[in-house]
Amino acid sequence: MKQSLVFQIPEAVAEIFDCLENADFQTVAVGGCVRDALLGNLPHDWDAATAATPEEMKKVLSPFRLIETGLRHGTLTVLNQGMGLEITTFRREGSYGDSRHPDTVTFTRSLEEDLARRDFTVNAMAYSPTEGLVDLFGGQEDLKAGRLRCVGDAKHRFQEDALRMVRAMRFASVLGFSIEKTAADAMNDQRERLSYVAWERIGEEMKKLLCGKNAASVLRNFPMMAGQIFPELLPCMGFEQHNPHHFGTVWEHTLRALEYAVPELPVRLAVLLHDVGKPHCFSLDESGIGHFYGHAHISSQMANEACRRLRLDNALRERVVRLVDLHDGPMIDREKLVRRRLRQLGEEAFFQLLEVQRADTCGLAEPFCRERLPQLAEIEKIAHMVLEQGACLNMNQLAISGRELLALGMEPGPEIGRVLRELLAAVSEGELANEPADLLNFAQQICKIE
Ligand code: ATP
Ligand code: MG
Repeated sequence: MKQSLVFQIPEAVAEIFDCLENADFQTVAVGGCVRDALLGNLPHDWDAATAATPEEMKKVLSPFRLIETGLRHGTLTVLNQGMGLEITTFRREGSYGDSRHPDTVTFTRSLEEDLARRDFTVNAMAYSPTEGLVDLFGGQEDLKAGRLRCVGDAKHRFQEDALRMVRAMRFASVLGFSIEKTAADAMNDQRERLSYVAWERIGEEMKKLLCGKNAASVLRNFPMMAGQIFPELLPCMGFEQHNPHHFGTVWEHTLRALEYAVPELPVRLAVLLHDVGKPHCFSLDESGIGHFYGHAHISSQMANEACRRLRLDNALRERVVRLVDLHDGPMIDREKLVRRRLRQLGEEAFFQLLEVQRADTCGLAEPFCRERLPQLAEIEKIAHMVLEQGACLNMNQLAISGRELLALGMEPGPEIGRVLRELLAAVSEGELANEPADLLNFAQQICKIE
């Protein structure tokens, strides 16, 4: 069959399918992998669904190593040739009393019922080597049209599980698809139902949404959904800046900046939140020009709250807060200052900050944007040069450690750390050679002075 060309199911997965099929249990690949394969993309994993109950799966697949991932919900992970395949028993979901969990989940032998419970037509297709493509809801047609359409009545499906509204935005952003009108209307009408959904689940979807190619346009099309998830964005909408650097509102600037931001999560999140503090520190001077003194710091505090609310991990939250806090700092293309920044931030955060500043600059009014971009390019060039030269920018690269300072007669304690930091500062900014003798000499000097 022609479609089998698109579906190059890995050998390790096909073996498991065969095993279940030989025992007379219909087994299919389903959801994201089918969608991605039809789009010509390599699926990142192969999720499978089967008519076998969990107990039947365990029996038939006993030659393989099995992990009981979520057996109660019918999910088993099968390990084969170093690959893990998730298989879930066909399910039918009962009514959703609370907009997030089905009241009952029952297993079924019917693939049709399992596909009918899925969110969007493009996610509700199945494929098996024996049956080919199973597309009961026009998924292929929607895939061709680049359109997200709910399986069944959009309003009802979003009432069942409000997270699907965020998933619609996520897929629209990542796949570059449009959201069909009845679904879009239902989202606008029922956005408040998002309050029934755990923030953590929303956070997971937002992470993917923000890195999608159409993140900015999806947020532009659904500002009220964006505001439901990030209430700190709401005051930015319609907030005029009265400043020649800017045209349009804080929200418009944010969206423009987001359009230009590289698809790296900390950068995208920081850009989304970089100016949320602006409406809270607006002032007009006597010539009618608007200012936002201290907005970066206020924005960073608000970003911190937003990341906590969405249960983002600490490392990501701290990075975003730092990027937002520093986004408005001066852009100085002098080598010594570039070295200092590289040392203070570390290489990864340094370049992310540069990307945040670049996106922010691209969101400015034309002349200011043209003026500042070359400066950022220059900073980037210097940074690469400094790194290529193998500059010493962190403690591990320093030619001596605390041990040598102790040998010099220094007392153990926080003083050692302070001296090492000073040595690193001097070395990284090119004032001192990274040689043990020079370092020890310098260490003695700074200790003596105090
Ligand atoms: P990705 O490539 O990001 O993994 P995916 O389509 O596989 O995309 P998942 O979140 O892994 O997305 O979900 C797997 C499948 O389960 C979906 O394709 C869809 O069929 C179904 N699904 C997931 N979440 C829901 C939901 N909230 N409501 C209905 N169906 C859902
Ligand atoms: Mg998936």
